[in-house]
Amino acid sequence: MSETCIDAVVIGAGPAGALAARGLALQGHSVWLVDKQSFPRPKVCGCCLNQYAITSLERVGITGLVERLGGRPLERLHMIAGGRSADVPLPRGVSLSRGALDGALIEAAKLAGADFIDGVSAKVQTLGGTAEEGHRVSLGSGNSVVARVLVIADGLGGSSLSAVEGYRVETAPASRIGLGGVTRSPVTQPTIPRGTIAMACGQDGYLGVVELEDGRLDFAAAIDAAAIKQAGGIAQAARRLVEQSGLGDHDWPMDDVERWRATPALTRTRKRIAGPGLFVVGDAAGYVEPFTGEGMAWAIAGGSAVSEVASEAVQKWDTSQEIRWVERHRARIRNRQAGCKLVAATLRRPWLTRVVVRSLSAWPGIANPLVRRIAAPATASDPAPTPYTREGSFA
Ligand SMILES: Cc1cc2nc3c(=O)[nH]c(=O)nc-3n(C[C@H](O)[C@H](O)[C@H](O)COP(=O)(O)OP(=O)(O)OC[C@H]3O[C@@H](n4cnc5c(N)ncnc54)[C@H](O)[C@@H]3O)c2cc1C
Repeated sequence: MSETCIDAVVIGAGPAGALAARGLALQGHSVWLVDKQSFPRPKVCGCCLNQYAITSLERVGITGLVERLGGRPLERLHMIAGGRSADVPLPRGVSLSRGALDGALIEAAKLAGADFIDGVSAKVQTLGGTAEEGHRVSLGSGNSVVARVLVIADGLGGSSLSAVEGYRVETAPASRIGLGGVTRSPVTQPTIPRGTIAMACGQDGYLGVVELEDGRLDFAAAIDAAAIKQAGGIAQAARRLVEQSGLGDHDWPMDDVERWRATPALTRTRKRIAGPGLFVVGDAAGYVEPFTGEGMAWAIAGGSAVSEVASEAVQKWDTSQEIRWVERHRARIRNRQAGCKLVAATLRRPWLTRVVVRSLSAWPGIANPLVRRIAAPATASDPAPTPYTREGSFA
């Protein structure tokens, strides 16, 4: 049995956790970034980074990363529904595998001074009353750590806070679930046009496919849970979505997917996302649906922003820190989730989806206001947290 005391423990090493850990380490704190899975780990995701995600990385000094990792530029969303299709132009996005992106963000956190511990499941045991007392987190095998500050970034379905009162997660009734997988081998000839996210929309949900930096294809879907049972499995349900879209004959290599995986219910809210010396961020703070491909952007922006208020809490806990995190989260993330909710509601009505696709094919420009809103770059109204504005501090 061993116990260590540390400034901050960040639970979950996806984009939200890695950026929170990096931000805290850059401010001179001792940080453990803990993940229950061994990296690189599989993650159901559409792997599309939008302009907000890329500019949010740039605002915290991570410039040129997606280009260095070979991210494939994305120019359009090709929507298919009811046998018709339409193209929506996209501003400055890229497709990039989660292995490459998450690995690079963890490296950035390590470079800033954070310790990364993977393959260890963390669970919050008790919450303390002051920063000096700290919060106790169990790390399995009889080990635990006491942290002055906790950042919870354990994603969809994370249960690291389940033993603590008041932080319950509520899933929306009839929420869709996610499913997806990546092909074993790179495509030898283009199955979807370069720079395209192809999205097949059916009555049970929608399935997107993009080419990754190494030529493999990433499939990701949101689907009614009952449809998986009816289809007889995850892979079968994914194929049925493509049939329902009316795409017809296609050469999407769905049989080559290494392993189809499913997620817990997607649409969820956490009633409380901050407490004394405790901040929740990324999917763990609430999620909508993936059609607009924004979850990583919210995680990146949130993970970077939380480090400033969490850093203050390392010194002393103050209720103003909780209030500020709730307000910032609302301003940066919750408000942006509104557009996604609207699109998700439309996609629940197959007849309306068909009308939208028909309208888009006739007047592609009608999507521009929504696309501009969703993918708006991080700007001065999204102020970069102070550690990154201090000259040279993010080297
Ligand atoms: C079908 C689908 C398609 C999507 N497509 C896109 C897209 O194209 N573009 C986009 O921007 N977003 C997309 N998203 C959303 C995106 O995947 C998430 O929003 C993003 O990964 C959230 O990052 P995060 O850091 O909050 O959580 P995650 O990336 O999920 O990381 C959480 C981490 O916490 C770890 N963890 C959990 N419990 C514990 C524990 N007890 N102890 C230690 N570690 C723990 C997990 O192992 C995991 O590594 C999609 C999501 C789905 C489901």
